[in-house]
Amino acid sequence: MAESTEMDYKSLPKIELHAHLNGSLSTSCLTELYHMKYPNTDDPPSHINGYKILDKFIELKDCFERFKYAHDLTDTPKRLKRATEIIINECHDDGVVYLEIRTTPRATEHMTKEVYLSTICEAIIECHEKEPKNPIVKLIPSFDRSKGVNDARDTLDVVLNVREKFPGMIVGIDLSGNPENTNFPDFKPLLQEARNAGLKLTLHCAETAGTEEENMEMLEFGMDRMGHGTFMDESPDTWLTLREKKIPVECCITSNLKCATVPDITKHHMQKLLHAEHPVVICTDDYGVFDTSLSKEIQLCAKTFNLSRETIQEISLNSVRFSFASTTEKTRLEALIRDFFTQSG
Ligand SMILES: [Zn+2]
Repeated sequence: MAESTEMDYKSLPKIELHAHLNGSLSTSCLTELYHMKYPNTDDPPSHINGYKILDKFIELKDCFERFKYAHDLTDTPKRLKRATEIIINECHDDGVVYLEIRTTPRATEHMTKEVYLSTICEAIIECHEKEPKNPIVKLIPSFDRSKGVNDARDTLDVVLNVREKFPGMIVGIDLSGNPENTNFPDFKPLLQEARNAGLKLTLHCAETAGTEEENMEMLEFGMDRMGHGTFMDESPDTWLTLREKKIPVECCITSNLKCATVPDITKHHMQKLLHAEHPVVICTDDYGVFDTSLSKEIQLCAKTFNLSRETIQEISLNSVRFSFASTTEKTRLEALIRDFFTQSG
């Protein structure tokens, strides 16, 4: 088995399938947005310190609190657009060739949900026009469970409208947010409607312990990809159903460690999934909050789980397969990855 530790992870063409917009603001991005919003003030330590999780570990529910610092700075079209541009440019610098950004459309005093989504779509188009080498970028609007089903209803209407204006860009729906005191079945009709309208589904599932019943409901409902799936093996039934349905799992190691849903990297469920030859993809979740990058995450997985070059190539190609890109885009991305492994082999 060839060693993978010496691989140039930055040059590896990477596929990012799980990145929340408001969780992906780097320190320089936060600083720039802060100065746009609060000119003539000093550096923004409270925004940076409040947002980023460096060495310490926090509870998942506290993690959702971190987003308020980002929401404060992305509350106008101008700053939201700039945030999107910076994320795309930073991902490009990290060697990401395909990026799916997810975000909950948010009405603020400066914009409607429709403007929120359109602004991101416009930023994506402009980035590509300025620098065609930038990653292919798609948008996945999220239903935030904590905001309730009425908010999700409204979001879906907006999503279906905006999708018409930006063909090929809005490719799926994500279900995320703090799951506490919410019920998955409430969201089922809307998710089904989204599916019927041709949108793919990626659902955060089993992020916390003790939700076996809901996990099974979600598995039975079905999804194109699963976010985290941390506690799928809590019950033999859910584990078996996941395996049978072969639903790809988006693994975000640093996120799980810093939110303390996984106690130790050697106990991360990715190992069990790999061992079972279950499809996995490696993602960042919130590279700004967790102070990471996709290159770092892939390197961390390779080192921790002793992945061979062949396995990394397979995971990379699978990421293309499980992405919500078009067939033509998938062919191009696959070729990029194969070329990398041929040339660096
Ligand atoms: Zn997530």
